[in-house]
Amino acid sequence: MNTAYDAIIVGARCAGSPTAMLLARKGYRVLVVDRATFPSDTVSTHVVHPLGVAALARWGLVDRLVATGCPPIHTYDFDFGPFTISGSPGTKDAPIAYCARRTVLDKLLVDAAGEAGAEIREGFTVEEVLIEDGVVVGIKGRSRGGETVTERARLVVGADGRYSVVAQALGPEQYNERPQLLAAYYTYWSDLPMDGRFETYIRAHRGFAAAPTHDGLTLTVGGWPYAEFEANKKDVEGNFLKIFDLAPTFAERIRSAKRVAPFTGTTVSNFFRKPYGPGWALVGDAGYNKDPITAQGITDAFRDAELCVMALDQSFTGARSFDDAMGEYQRTRDQHVLPMYEFTCQLATLEPPPPEMQQLFGAIHGNQKAMDGFVQMNAGTISPAEFFSPERIGAIMTAARVTN
Ligand SMILES: Cc1cc2nc3c(=O)[nH]c(=O)nc-3n(C[C@H](O)[C@H](O)[C@H](O)COP(=O)(O)OP(=O)(O)OC[C@H]3O[C@@H](n4cnc5c(N)ncnc54)[C@H](O)[C@@H]3O)c2cc1C
Repeated sequence: MNTAYDAIIVGARCAGSPTAMLLARKGYRVLVVDRATFPSDTVSTHVVHPLGVAALARWGLVDRLVATGCPPIHTYDFDFGPFTISGSPGTKDAPIAYCARRTVLDKLLVDAAGEAGAEIREGFTVEEVLIEDGVVVGIKGRSRGGETVTERARLVVGADGRYSVVAQALGPEQYNERPQLLAAYYTYWSDLPMDGRFETYIRAHRGFAAAPTHDGLTLTVGGWPYAEFEANKKDVEGNFLKIFDLAPTFAERIRSAKRVAPFTGTTVSNFFRKPYGPGWALVGDAGYNKDPITAQGITDAFRDAELCVMALDQSFTGARSFDDAMGEYQRTRDQHVLPMYEFTCQLATLEPPPPEMQQLFGAIHGNQKAMDGFVQMNAGTISPAEFFSPERIGAIMTAARVTN
């Protein structure tokens, strides 16, 4: 096929730039377009769990992130009111999480894609996906200067977020759909030391979290059930600040802190999309979106980039058919994320845990191995399917009975 590029990637953030970088490192001709310019922010908090950091390390980028002065996070605390479960979120090889501002992280990823040889076009808005005989062959869009530009490629990758224009043009099957469950808002504070900890506070129908980020600031994110979204929209600040009062020790700390940013927030729906078809693929939120309560999206986008590039390389080299390779990409993604998706959707209801779960949390509390396991499950380091397996739960309950 006479095309200028092997792949055009639409979207240059957590899913798009790593996909472009990994393809370009394999020698493919890659064009990345984004309507944004970089550095720029996006509506998202930005905890990158240890497995996401491990991906950055595999790509040779973690030292760059560290050099930006992003404080390391070694411990996650889950405060349920009567007790707190504290533990290490990662593994021996990848023990640390970061809460990297998207202005910093996304720019770092865009630059890495460019250094790998991908052509980056910022301020370029895709308006149309070109389809010939049922196969995607390119894009049409508007460049920063306003002119209409058409580009052709063997493949178009939608890395353009949950409202993906690529997905909208192709209408892939959507499944496991759930409506919006939570309204989440966030802001930043100075003078709120976190000492390397990511703290989460869980209360009935309310929750919030705090994590240290760039520039000596602390991110706080909190929310309420989607049912209250409309009513509480009128006074986000008042409703947000009231949540802190549910955790008096934290409320005391926040009184000595200074808020340095307005509140930003949104609600998202939950879905999977079939992530491929003739001439196209989806990575990141474009292919699989879930409530941000478990902060999995960036790590998921990184994993998608690696899995998708592996499949595309197999297809481009002729080692496997496109459908075969991409079918495995979809299956691997879905098997990996489904238990966390269910867990995330359950948490996002902010319903108090049922009595048997409260009993389990009580048994976990104080048992460091179990607390590390619980924290690692919340970080996505181990699967909820593994953590909640009958053997593991049985062992935790038995240990609690022996101790008491
Ligand atoms: C409130 C909130 C809090 C969150 N907190 C966390 C967290 O703490 N940790 C975590 O891991 N995840 C979090 N997430 C999820 C995370 O933001 C996403 O999973 C992640 O950004 C997905 O990356 P992406 O590259 O797929 O999409 P995006 O980051 O959405 O990037 C898509 C890009 O595509 C571009 N684009 C879109 N349409 C076009 C077009 N037509 N033409 C050209 N370019 C286009 C956009 O400009 C954008 O730059 C949160 C999400 C929300 C909403």
